[in-house]
Amino acid sequence: MRAVSEFMELVRSAGALPPEHVMQGPSSEPVAVIDGREVLVFCSSNYLGLATHPEVKAAVAEAVMEYGVGANGSRLISGTTDLHVALERQTALFKGTESAIAFPTGYMVNSGTIAALAYLPYFARMAGLPVCSDERRTVVLSDELNHASIVEGGQLARGPFVHYAHSDLDALEVKLREHRDKRPLIVTDGVFSMDGDIAPLPGILELAAEYGATVLVDDAHATGVLGRTGRGTLEYFGLEAGDNVLHMGTYSKSYGSMGGFLAADLATTDYLRVAARPYMFSGAMPPCLAAGILAAMRVAEREPQRRVQVLRNRDYIVYGLQQIGFDVPGAGTPIIPIVIGDDEAGMALSAGLLERGLWVPCIRWPAVGRGQSRLRITITAIHEREQLDRLLEGFAEVGSALGLV
Ligand code: PMP
Repeated sequence: MRAVSEFMELVRSAGALPPEHVMQGPSSEPVAVIDGREVLVFCSSNYLGLATHPEVKAAVAEAVMEYGVGANGSRLISGTTDLHVALERQTALFKGTESAIAFPTGYMVNSGTIAALAYLPYFARMAGLPVCSDERRTVVLSDELNHASIVEGGQLARGPFVHYAHSDLDALEVKLREHRDKRPLIVTDGVFSMDGDIAPLPGILELAAEYGATVLVDDAHATGVLGRTGRGTLEYFGLEAGDNVLHMGTYSKSYGSMGGFLAADLATTDYLRVAARPYMFSGAMPPCLAAGILAAMRVAEREPQRRVQVLRNRDYIVYGLQQIGFDVPGAGTPIIPIVIGDDEAGMALSAGLLERGLWVPCIRWPAVGRGQSRLRITITAIHEREQLDRLLEGFAEVGSALGLV
């Protein structure tokens, strides 16, 4: 299309096209090879280091031999195997809920679930069923820094989709009051994907109780990492989840694979099986991946030191960067943002690090607001001390050469 080619020409000439590096070999290990050159990777979400764990790989390989490489059908047609069922059962057990439903990606969980929940009255009418006692429309109240998949779910919802200021409980309450005549669904990242900060869940749950709201917590980055046993943000705060909390998480980060889940009461997961479009109309997760995720969950539970180590590594880097003179917020998660602001300065820092074999991407608009470029480090349990030291040396050298510290 001509309009697209013209637009892309402009993007390219402005140097605004993000590079897509191609790795020869695994992308989730601390060392990767790009164009024949070794680099240290500080941008993988393989938090617990399970993506290439021998037990996990063996489980996938064994399942490939038994089940083949794909599901070749959507879950409601021919895509559900005993491995999917076992994965959902294990996920529910882990999250302490009655039930869980697995989707092919975490993105689909959010977009499908939020749209389906808000869609309930229309769905009931379409199916010729009474709409139950509560006929109110749903209002989706979403933190302004929530993940794109939540935004998409809100946009697909047939009802109002309202942003509230980031982690601002007063702002959330104003919106809850404004929309008192509707059924409120509050959605928040547990750990925010670009800044690594943690949502103020105790306050959100209090407001939810006061205003009769349901809360969907996206624990993509917290599952397996935060809380005494890695159950996520609620456990981190020592909160008991009531029936009004829906737990979203992914298998694509701590569990090293692909896919996502919603853990909730049985009625909600049953409803999603017939109302969440990405679940119904997309091919199911390959069964071999379900086998790999089950193995990863077993290793994570058996080796809690992985969780301890990722947070220790993270503390080491944050302390080191602060000593060098970078302003680093201390949220206590493996996502470490170093806000630079100016896009060019951010890109120059990232490029300087890459020249030294250190891969830390610069995140820019549209992933974050304009003029809020940042380097986003992610740390895993399998980074070694010497690799962390190399990162700190790189930041010290390139940061001072660019006058950023
Ligand atoms: N929610 C958040 C907060 C995320 O960061 C991501 C992935 N970047 C997703 C949802 C989507 O998960 P997935 O990659 O498994 O589709």
